Amino acid sequence: MLIDSYRHKGMRKSLVRTVQDKGIKDKRVLQALEQVPRHYFFENAFVEQAYQDKAFPIGEGQTISQPYTVAYQTELLEIKPTDKVLEIGTGSGYQCSILLQLTPNVYTIEYNEPLYHKAQKQFELMGLKPQAFLGDGSEGLPQHAPFDKILVTAGAPIIPKTLITQLTIGGKLVIPVGDTATQKMMRITRVGKEDFTKEEFDDFKFVPLLGKQGWQ
Ligand code: SAM
Repeated sequence: MLIDSYRHKGMRKSLVRTVQDKGIKDKRVLQALEQVPRHYFFENAFVEQAYQDKAFPIGEGQTISQPYTVAYQTELLEIKPTDKVLEIGTGSGYQCSILLQLTPNVYTIEYNEPLYHKAQKQFELMGLKPQAFLGDGSEGLPQHAPFDKILVTAGAPIIPKTLITQLTIGGKLVIPVGDTATQKMMRITRVGKEDFTKEEFDDFKFVPLLGKQGWQ
């Protein structure tokens, strides 16, 4: 059973302050962080860790991202309530739940089958309805493109061109790119059919993006 107590809500408020102190300003992103019970994504034995600003193992060698990282990537996406968003790397489903606070139109794709099924159960329990897929998201989701925003939650060796071509004009891709040790957060905006701008932000450390356009 999912229980969200006053204590959990209090811990969430304090997590929001931590993330704010680290530089996150977007009110809608901070509100989303305050709304989604992160402890729902943790096994009972580890619930106490849910409101630390840390990544945490979710099995299969993968992690639920650090709340600050989730807020950072979400802020860069500048999501509008009418946006159609694709998340690559569903993992626990936490980041997807945050995106769903900002727009109802969220697609998410996961490569790892056990994690995909676990996230599906989690979404059902929480009454959330993203369009969830199992497959190689390094190639995007061409059958449902274009997207206003694309978010990659694993570290990529390159910016896959196929992802950029799945953006609407004006659309944005947020993706960490680098080697397996560190990646630079990048934001690509499709300003015209063949025109793109690239912005670079801070360094992060993500688990690797696998698949055809990822690490082999
Ligand atoms: N967004 C997740 C969350 O909120 O829990 C955290 C994601 S974890 C840092 C990265 C995820 O990307 C892992 O679940 C991993 O299996 C997935 N992944 C790696 N390569 C992928 C690919 N090519 N397509 C889809 N998912 C991929």
